[in-house]
Amino acid sequence: MKIAIIGAGAMGSLFGARLAPLCHVWLVDAWEEHIRAIQRDGIQLTNLDGSTQRVTVNATTNPEAVGDEVDWAIIFVKSYQTAQAAAWAAPMLKAGGLALTMQNGLGNLEVMADVLGAERCVQGVTSHGATLLGPGQVRHAGAAATYLATRPAITERVQRIAELFTRAGFETHLSDNLDSLVWGKLVINVGINALTAILRVRNGVLAEVASARALMEAAVDEAVAVARARGITVPYADARARTREVALATAANCSSMLADVLRGFPTEIDVINGAIVREGARLGVPTPVNQTLVHLIKALEATHAGRVA
Ligand code: NAD
Repeated sequence: MKIAIIGAGAMGSLFGARLAPLCHVWLVDAWEEHIRAIQRDGIQLTNLDGSTQRVTVNATTNPEAVGDEVDWAIIFVKSYQTAQAAAWAAPMLKAGGLALTMQNGLGNLEVMADVLGAERCVQGVTSHGATLLGPGQVRHAGAAATYLATRPAITERVQRIAELFTRAGFETHLSDNLDSLVWGKLVINVGINALTAILRVRNGVLAEVASARALMEAAVDEAVAVARARGITVPYADARARTREVALATAANCSSMLADVLRGFPTEIDVINGAIVREGARLGVPTPVNQTLVHLIKALEATHAGRVA
């Protein structure tokens, strides 16, 4: 099986390092220093138990170097780069090839479908976590199940890549409930990402400090109300409790939005809390807490260069 992973940041590098010993993998990313380090030394992967390994993987900044006949293009760029990544994937995919997104947030699948056609796009959700330690170096930061949405026309192909992921150490299941998958992860990201970035704290603080927890729960409540108005049931009896559990289970982690704010990169706020605000406006569900979080993150993005230390 030939796989192109487009977006070789933390998650792309983790999946690339684990899949490369099992099949033909290419990593594609515009970040030259990182790709050069992988070409020279392979990926240095730090496993969950602290052990490290070096894995040789094909890596390039030039999507044309991948060639064609790709069975799966896995999109692991940030959401604002999804259209570009899908355009890179288009000429790589063989007839019957599929593109998979396991990005966070709402709307990546639709952006990919605009470029590639809905019949070639697959939604996944992964609760694995990864952190970049430097060019060519990635740390596996957390493990949990991965789900891939399937439909009758593609079940066999999805089954095959799910088996490959499982062999690579990413326990993977198929699901025919796409909305529940995506919104289940979205609600948690809505509660954790923006607040950790604004407060500059690790995830666990949101569960431990009463005022932070109140904000987290208010953001989550709005997201659940929007989901309900769309006719979507999130896969938890108590979304507040589930978000607290995740914050505690990942207590020592810095969220990716915090990492982005600290290094002055754009965040994925538009597809996380911003998606709740947009959908809320469309469906008549008030989302004042999420609107405030969106304004605060956008203000942080816009003022990074002038920040007082
Ligand atoms: P990332 O920030 O590690 O990488 C994203 C892009 O940023 C890469 O394409 C890379 O080129 C660029 N980049 C990163 N560091 C850079 C640097 N120092 N200099 C120049 N360029 C740099 O992104 P990620 O965490 O792998 O996330 C990819 C997608 O997966 C996102 O949609 C995210 O929400 C989702 N996701 C992430 C995690 C996680 O634990 N990281 C978990 C689940 C889903």
